[in-house]
Amino acid sequence: MRRQRNVKIVATLGPASSTYEMIRALHEAGADVFRLNMSHGSHEEVRERHRIIRQVERELESPIAILADLQGPKLRVGTFIKGAEELEEGAAFTLDLDEVPGDATRVFLPHPEIFAALTPGSSLLVNDGKIRLRVETCDERHAACVVVAGGTISDRKGVNVPDVVLPLAALSPKDRDDLEFVCQLGVDWLALSFVQRAGDVEEARALADGRAAILSKIEKPAAVEQFEDIMAASDGIMVARGDLGVELPVSAVPPIQKRLVRYCRAAAKPVIVATQMLESMIESPMPTRAEVSDVATAIYEGTDAIMLSAESAAGQYPIEAVQTMDRVATEVENDPTYSQIIAASRSAQGTTVADGIVAAAREIAEKTNIRVICCFTESGTTALLTARERPGVPIIAMTSKRGTARRLCLSWGCNCVMTEELERFKMAVVNAARAARAGGFATKEDQIVVTAGVPFNQPGTTNILRVAPSDERLIYSTDPE
Ligand code: PGA
Ligand code: MN
Repeated sequence: MRRQRNVKIVATLGPASSTYEMIRALHEAGADVFRLNMSHGSHEEVRERHRIIRQVERELESPIAILADLQGPKLRVGTFIKGAEELEEGAAFTLDLDEVPGDATRVFLPHPEIFAALTPGSSLLVNDGKIRLRVETCDERHAACVVVAGGTISDRKGVNVPDVVLPLAALSPKDRDDLEFVCQLGVDWLALSFVQRAGDVEEARALADGRAAILSKIEKPAAVEQFEDIMAASDGIMVARGDLGVELPVSAVPPIQKRLVRYCRAAAKPVIVATQMLESMIESPMPTRAEVSDVATAIYEGTDAIMLSAESAAGQYPIEAVQTMDRVATEVENDPTYSQIIAASRSAQGTTVADGIVAAAREIAEKTNIRVICCFTESGTTALLTARERPGVPIIAMTSKRGTARRLCLSWGCNCVMTEELERFKMAVVNAARAARAGGFATKEDQIVVTAGVPFNQPGTTNILRVAPSDERLIYSTDPE
């Protein structure tokens, strides 16, 4: 679907958004990527949502990316005799390996590897960081803690251990099972939760075996420290502000967001800013001014995509939330200050032929009245490099690979169009001209820029830039074979 903006919108599906009507309406309102959260919902629900997305994609002839978000090594306490307990500041509280229900003095924590990694002084956070425990003494079966910040603790609440690199497998048995399930269904992106090191990404990549691109969620201090290695091993990044703001002080999140967004753009890898962007819209049709400002800030920073979590998965106003993001994005991108910021933050160009061609394509389009850059891309790399330039004219990513078209739905500015496999450059130009006109990007009077690699169907060969008419009769009559 042609959008009037470049930044992409990711909408999480859930109980509030799993019907055909809703998923179609969300896509029409602006959702470019749907996120299936494997922490909630059965495989049957995931299969059904996946089926509906692909149906909408077929009906609207508009590539849609599906991102399956694996739960990762999320730690949880066991259960309580009474279901819940109040922990008072200064009280003693023990976590241990006894599989019996807990009380006000102790609870089961079913993770021996954590006890092995803790040391006196380590912090344990429970229930989104609301409860803070400090380890006093510990051994391989228990950790005796003092309550630093109290609150209600209840059955199976999540536990964060921010200052320890946990010797945890990147993927739990459930994650491996989910990964295989979604790869067989056919998803475009796999998001990995609580990544701690580049090796975690490599492990998932080996299991996915080319069936999906890998996106790392940055939500642990260790991942922030190891960010460059993790980014190098990943195809995309999510700034997962929810858990990041539990594991680090919330005030540390905005600078990390800015830095990660910049690094990703420089590396030509898509980045998503996620969590609580329009949180109040879970219950209200109107966002707060601060939320609108947060969405706008992420776009001004140059993010590829912005994300809705509970707002679209479980809220009362999923469509309004997507519309709000769409409107904010359109407003920001039409602001001359946005273009100035984006141009000023363009990083030094790389040194390959493709880097030179995408930079030239942008300059030619921006300096003349050319309306669109059409880039032929098989692996998607040339489209990613073109998107990194953040040109002032739309990008059409033309590809014969459906998986490439879908994956690029996450990347800034990429309007993805499927073409047949091409043998001759002339046919590529003709197809680009048709796509530009069909999508409303150009009229017969306009010229377009086309980039491609010849010979075709060899990844990494971008070596041609052609300024062409968008009227194919002129191409037929003027161009050599
Ligand atoms: P989650 O990840 O919603 O799966 O926890 C996002 C975040 O932590 O921000
Ligand atoms: Mn998270």
